[in-house]
Amino acid sequence: MLLLGAHMSTAGGLHTAFDRGEALGCTAIQIFTSSPRQWRGRKLTDADVREFRQAWDASSCRVCLAHDIYLTRLGTRDSAILSRSRSTFAQEIRTCQRLGLSGLVMHPVGDTDADEDAVLARVADSLNAVFDEVPFEGTQVLLETTAGQGANVGYRFEQLARIIDGVEQDARLGICVDTCHVFAAGYDISGKTGWRKMMSELEATVGLARLKAIHLNDSRKPLGSRVDRHAHIGRGEIGEAAFERVMRDRRLAKIPKLLETPKENDMDAVNLALLRKLAGKK
Ligand SMILES: [Zn+2]
Ligand SMILES: [Zn+2]
Repeated sequence: MLLLGAHMSTAGGLHTAFDRGEALGCTAIQIFTSSPRQWRGRKLTDADVREFRQAWDASSCRVCLAHDIYLTRLGTRDSAILSRSRSTFAQEIRTCQRLGLSGLVMHPVGDTDADEDAVLARVADSLNAVFDEVPFEGTQVLLETTAGQGANVGYRFEQLARIIDGVEQDARLGICVDTCHVFAAGYDISGKTGWRKMMSELEATVGLARLKAIHLNDSRKPLGSRVDRHAHIGRGEIGEAAFERVMRDRRLAKIPKLLETPKENDMDAVNLALLRKLAGKK
């Protein structure tokens, strides 16, 4: 079964994401459990959690992932932001585990002018601290490949591997490949050779067993630009043929694939129909 869907709004309550996903035929969705630009998370009652789980059970959606808020910087040297990031992230994992989510996608972020090795080490330290504080109850943290914009690290697979190496409870870690981000970071997945090369580099560094999610976004910005601007599938610099390779790669058959493209003009439906066609599933 194709695990395909999109990031869904939760306006009106977390459980409403499933109705939106259902309307688009999603078998996988991603949500924010709280507003991504605010530190203070949404307080979930037990009734909210029940309602969420019931809506999920009643839907055709198999996989639901969360994406962390944008403020989290587990690799910053600013001690106040670091401690706030750690406590908020710990809370986010607890929330995801209450909701029964299998994965929480997050960006490894430090400081724009920082030594990247130091940032990677601090991200690993933060994950160690958070994992010591919050026992594992089903939610893996999925380190997302970034475009390398601003203070983001993790734009080379080697960097993600370094973080994973530094984490004691590394079974709690997976990764999420974002097609727009890897392309903007310099992996030329627009052609067949580049796709093969990226996949073999991923295998040689992080390992394919860690890959737990794929974000399907075309890129408005060119290869290696290190600028993160999502485009509709086939309407950016990566191009439709590349997404056919992604959708048909047997190694990725069981990995949830999620759009994070702009929502205007019912474009989720258009992008999803195209991806199903490229997968050969109409
Ligand atoms: Zn992301
Ligand atoms: Zn993404």
